[in-house]
Amino acid sequence: MAIGAEKNTAIKRVLRFYEALGVERVPLSIDDGTGALRAVRAEMGDCTRCKLHKGRTNIVFGEGNPSARLMFIGEGPGKDEDAKGRPFVGEAGQLLDKLINRMGLGRGDVYIANIVKCRPPGNRDPEDDEVDSCMAFLKQQIEAVRPEIIMTLGRIAAHMLLETKVPITKLRGKFQRYGDILVMPTFHPAYLLRNPKDKMLVWADAQEVLHKLGLEVK
Ligand code: SF4
Repeated sequence: MAIGAEKNTAIKRVLRFYEALGVERVPLSIDDGTGALRAVRAEMGDCTRCKLHKGRTNIVFGEGNPSARLMFIGEGPGKDEDAKGRPFVGEAGQLLDKLINRMGLGRGDVYIANIVKCRPPGNRDPEDDEVDSCMAFLKQQIEAVRPEIIMTLGRIAAHMLLETKVPITKLRGKFQRYGDILVMPTFHPAYLLRNPKDKMLVWADAQEVLHKLGLEVK
């Protein structure tokens, strides 16, 4: 079953239940995450909450299935992402696409976001004050999408989301928790471009995720 389809099936089941009861109007609002994500984006506006706004071309909010079962989180936009306003669209993004496709999924099945939404100058790591300013938006995105599993990409994303300093080499490949959501820390695709031999480790992590989601490992 395609990712996100289970949630849609559950919603349809609820609607049929009300229909069987003769209810013409469902007394609750069912949002697949789209409305909540729009509200987060609206709250962000033309954000100037941290100094990263000064050098950005575009805010890179995030994109994908608003009710995705799987969410990817990176650290922040690079040059290509800043230019296009979309996450993971450069060379590293193409590698992420390959991973997603190898998992039997497409970009439209998952949700992709970053810790900070504006490009740090020269692709430096985001600084603590910048993460502190932006993190609330990511938390709201997670709350809106409600994924079953998050794959963090690279050291910064894992450290910031999990609030730990444990080296990524130790975190990688072992499920962690963000509230009731499972988190699989793995390497960043940009790292894999420099260290292609470690692609097998990331694929092993992805297979663990597929297994947890009950999806077929191809
Ligand atoms: Fe606002 Fe986040 Fe951009 Fe900073 S990085 S300006 S908090 S959207």
